[in-house]
Amino acid sequence: MLIDCDVEGPNSHIFFKEPMVKFKDVSIPAPKFDLEKCTLCGKCAEFCQYNAIAITGEKLLFFEELCHGCGGCKILCPDDAITEADHQIGIIEKGGKKDLMLYHGLLNIGEPFGVPIIRELKQFADESKTTIFDSPPGTACPAVEAMRDSDFCILVTEPTPFGLHDLMLTVDVARELGTPFGVVVNRDGIGDDRVERYCTGEKIPLLAKIPNDIQIAKLYSRGMPIVEGLPEYKAVFSGLYDKIREMV
Ligand code: SF4
Ligand code: SF4
Repeated sequence: MLIDCDVEGPNSHIFFKEPMVKFKDVSIPAPKFDLEKCTLCGKCAEFCQYNAIAITGEKLLFFEELCHGCGGCKILCPDDAITEADHQIGIIEKGGKKDLMLYHGLLNIGEPFGVPIIRELKQFADESKTTIFDSPPGTACPAVEAMRDSDFCILVTEPTPFGLHDLMLTVDVARELGTPFGVVVNRDGIGDDRVERYCTGEKIPLLAKIPNDIQIAKLYSRGMPIVEGLPEYKAVFSGLYDKIREMV
């Protein structure tokens, strides 16, 4: 099973011929303010870490697009002036084929926070199958949420100073989460050997190297998996899978 957790720009589906079909809406609880009851005490605005509420003079202003749906303001309100209503932030779509199911999420344009969609997506993981979570890049909340509770993380990087910088940050996150991990070097052949030296020094397993091959880029642009167009790469990926199975 494949679950694409990059809810701001999922792209795993381009490698499937089957269309994606809407499966469900994802909502967060957003506060609704009863201005008859509100005494403008300001406790909700003071509490909100995301600056979604402001009290200006005789007015309470609510910026729904900044709200993360944590529910804290409702709990705190001393005058029972806050109720909650569902605010739809995106959808989940389902596709793929019988032997390789695909789920992905789509965050609505303008919504700042995709983590609730990632949490819901991860509920579809089938414990009886190998499930791959395709994480968003970086080390922000969505990437951390995708990595959380995984059995193993494959950290894909490029052999450049920029790749090494991001890799070091991601290694810190994986260590903090206590998740075993290894590194795959993509576009091997560009840049230098600092990523490899870093992995050796930190005793991080280097699981595979994928060469900087223009044929791979051409297949990618046509939505074709590498192993279908260039079967000689099958050994790289089956070797990667075998190495991970030995470690988890
Ligand atoms: S905490 Fe309740 S009463 Fe106080 S400003 Fe917010 S909504 Fe109004
Ligand atoms: S639910 Fe949380 S994030 Fe949204 S306005 Fe209330 S305190 Fe702020």
